[in-house]
Amino acid sequence: MSRTRHAEGARGRSAIVVGGGIGGLAAAVALTRRGWRVKVLERAAGFGEVGAGLSLWPNGLRALDALGMGDQVREQALVEARAGIRDANGRWLARTDIRELTTRFGPLVMIHRARLFDILRAALPAGVMCGGTEVTRIALPGRCVEVEHQGGVARADLLVAADGIGSFVRRSLWPAAPAPRYAGYTAWRLVVDTGRRPPAGGESWGRGERVGIAPLADGRTYLYCVADAPEGQRNPGGELTVLRRRFGHWHEPIPSLLAAADEDAVMRHDIYALPPLSHFVTGRAALLGDAAHAMTPNLGQGANQALEDAVTLAALLDTRPEVESALAAYDEQRRPRTRMIARRSRRIGAVAQWHSPAATALRDLMLRMTPGSATLNALTPVLDWQPPDRSTYTPAQAE
Ligand SMILES: Cc1cc2nc3c(=O)[nH]c(=O)nc-3n(C[C@H](O)[C@H](O)[C@H](O)COP(=O)(O)OP(=O)(O)OC[C@H]3O[C@@H](n4cnc5c(N)ncnc54)[C@H](O)[C@@H]3O)c2cc1C
Repeated sequence: MSRTRHAEGARGRSAIVVGGGIGGLAAAVALTRRGWRVKVLERAAGFGEVGAGLSLWPNGLRALDALGMGDQVREQALVEARAGIRDANGRWLARTDIRELTTRFGPLVMIHRARLFDILRAALPAGVMCGGTEVTRIALPGRCVEVEHQGGVARADLLVAADGIGSFVRRSLWPAAPAPRYAGYTAWRLVVDTGRRPPAGGESWGRGERVGIAPLADGRTYLYCVADAPEGQRNPGGELTVLRRRFGHWHEPIPSLLAAADEDAVMRHDIYALPPLSHFVTGRAALLGDAAHAMTPNLGQGANQALEDAVTLAALLDTRPEVESALAAYDEQRRPRTRMIARRSRRIGAVAQWHSPAATALRDLMLRMTPGSATLNALTPVLDWQPPDRSTYTPAQAE
C-alpha cells in the first residue's frame, strides 16, 4: 500500500500521549507529521530551564533526522571532540576514537536538555501540548482509549504512555509489572560556567565513584558525578559541599569546575532501572521511553531509545492498517533491543562502580590494554540502528 493511502487513512486517527518529556514530545511530533490528531497531556504546568546535558548518539540523531529535526539539533549541540576514560589523577585509561566513531556511525553530540525540549516543542502544532494536566485514570473500552485528567475525560484511538519511570499508565494497565529498582548509586548533575571550555570530555573513574565532563555548545560545561550511596540519602549541609569533599582533589578541571559551581545548580537523583517487562503494549496502549524501559544512564542511551521508540511507533502505525498489528510489531521490535541496551548499561555501571583496590587496578589495566577499535565494535549493535522508514517526514507529507 502506498505511503499516501496510509497518510490519508491516518488523517482521522487520534492519539493521546501521556507525558511531555523527550519521548512523549518525539512521539507527538512523529504522529502529527503522519497526520494523526494528537494531544499531549503533561502534568507539569510550566517549562523552565530543565535538566543538564544530554548525550545524543548517532542512533538518536538518526531518529531525530527521521523527525526532520536532526540539523536543528546539531546546530544547538557540540560534537564531542575528545573523550574516553581517565583515572582520578587524569591518566588516560581508554581513549574513544571519535574520528573513527564518526566515520562508522555518525557524530556523537552533547546538547543541553532544555535546547532539545525547545526544538521538540516548537515542532508541535498549537493546541497539541496540554500542560498542567495530570492523568488520573485510564480505561481501554474496546477499540478506543479513555483518559481521565484534571480537566475532564479524553478519548482517542491510541494511547502512548510516555509518563516516565514511575509511569502511572504502567501501574494502572500493568499492575503485575515489577517496580523500578535502585541501582545502588546516586548521580549529581550540574552545568557550570567558567568561561573556558575544557580541552577534553569523558569520564574519570575512581573506586565506587566517577565524574563525567562534557563541554556544551554555549561555552558552559556539563559535569556529572556518580557515587555508591544508600537510597534516598541527602546531605543537609548541601550537595556541593559533598562533591567538593569527594572530588575536589581529582584531576583538573574537576576541582575548578566544582569551585565555580553554584549550590542551586546541583541536581541529585538516585539511579533506578526498570526490570524488563513481558510486553510494551496492551489493547490500544503502548508504553514508550522510560515508562517502558527505564535504564541506568551509564551508556547515555535512555533518551536516545525514547527517540527510537517514537520514530518506530509512528512508522509502524503508518504502514499497518490496524493499530493493534502496528503495536504488536512495535513490541516485537523495541522490547529485545531496549532490553539488550539496558543490560549493557547496567553491566558498564557495575564495573565503573567497583571499589575494591585489586578489582579497580585490574579493571584499569584491562582498559589500558583494550584497543579503541574493540570498544567501537562492541558499540556497533547500539549505534547502527536505522529508522524503519528511512525517508524523512516533512510537513508537506503530512498535509
Ligand atoms: C543522571 C541521568 C543522566 C542521563 N543522561 C542521559 C544521556 O546523556 N543521554 C540519554 O539518552 N539519556 C540520559 N538519561 C536518561 C534520560 O533522561 C531518560 O531516558 C529520558 O529523559 C526519558 O524520557 P521520557 O520522555 O521517557 O520520560 P520523562 O523524561 O521522565 O518524562 C515523563 C513525563 O511524564 C510526565 N508525567 C508523569 N506522570 C504523569 C501523569 N500522570 N500525567 C501527565 N503527565 C505525567 C512527567 O511530568 C514528565 O514530563 C539520563 C538519566 C539520568 C537519571
